[in-house]
Amino acid sequence: MLVVMKPQASAADIQAVCERIESLGYRPHPMPGAQRTAIGITGNQGAVEQDALAEMAGVADVIKVSKPYKLVSRDLKEDDTIIRFPGTDATIGGRDLAVIAGPCSIESRDQAFAVAEEVAKAGAQFLRGGAYKPRTSPYAFQGMGEAALEIMAEVRERFGLRIVTEALDNESLELVEQYADMIQIGARNMQNYSLLRRAGRSRLPVLLKRGLSATLEELLMAAEYVMSEGNYQVALCERGIRTFTDHTRNTLDLSIVPAVERLSHLPILVDPSHGTGKRDKVLPLARAAVAVGCDGLLVEVHNAPDKALSDGAQSIYPDQFRQMMDECSRIAEVVHRRIPRNLQLTALEGAAYSGR
Ligand code: PEP
Ligand code: MN
Repeated sequence: MLVVMKPQASAADIQAVCERIESLGYRPHPMPGAQRTAIGITGNQGAVEQDALAEMAGVADVIKVSKPYKLVSRDLKEDDTIIRFPGTDATIGGRDLAVIAGPCSIESRDQAFAVAEEVAKAGAQFLRGGAYKPRTSPYAFQGMGEAALEIMAEVRERFGLRIVTEALDNESLELVEQYADMIQIGARNMQNYSLLRRAGRSRLPVLLKRGLSATLEELLMAAEYVMSEGNYQVALCERGIRTFTDHTRNTLDLSIVPAVERLSHLPILVDPSHGTGKRDKVLPLARAAVAVGCDGLLVEVHNAPDKALSDGAQSIYPDQFRQMMDECSRIAEVVHRRIPRNLQLTALEGAAYSGR
């Protein structure tokens, strides 16, 4: 059920409807839009007493939502969700494309700074780096943990990059929250419902990757878990699904981008690195992702990929990343989008990075 308020409804009208919903034993989720506010209702097992709300001041309509997801749906919020990062001009969603780039794993301070400098210079506004890694083998490198988070916090100060990093479980999420700007929930955890709920109680935005065999509806339902706890800042990410192909690690399902756009107001990013698993396929698929209308790219970049402790084969070199930024910027124009550049770095240009 959702309550659509009239465009002229006052803040007090909205507040009164929310209080009424609470008094009925449900949870209200007000979503302000450009034209009007809609209020989603969760926590109800069956139908909500429609009449109790329909007659209230400022209410235009009370609508039954037939889809299993409510808060992620465009029925509730027509306008695209734009995630903002306080104190910066970086955004995810809306007209500008977000570029989130960096090494699969943070391996050392030197490696992190070297890659961060390259991606920031090329214009990325976000650094992604793993501190806690979900590895297929328990014997493979598992990430540097909190030490990596500390390094990324330093990187933010120096290069003005927002930090995106994965939380594997509730314990690592507590730490990620202390250091990062955005929490990544990885493909393997897309249906870890207690982790999704915990992320839903965080003040940080969440980057939710599609599970290896998840349908569109399952992806949206996972986002619904986060939003149902009150965190509405969620970005989705297509990262390839398991198919029978053997020329790539996964099959990047670009058709999910317009499908998400139609059903949901949430931004949808594309990760051509995990989506293909092969360095030479990252650039062509990044171009295709921008052409298909994604809201941003998640790309693995490494200064010495042959020595990388994880995902070296799919990590691109800094010069390939610059080429990607250049070509994708031009494609973005054709689809009426733009790739904004990291401004703090421009201000730093000429200053001695070597001073670190
Ligand atoms: C990653 O982003 O490094 C990662 C492990 O991604 P995914 O969860 O998509 O496999
Ligand atoms: Mn990786």
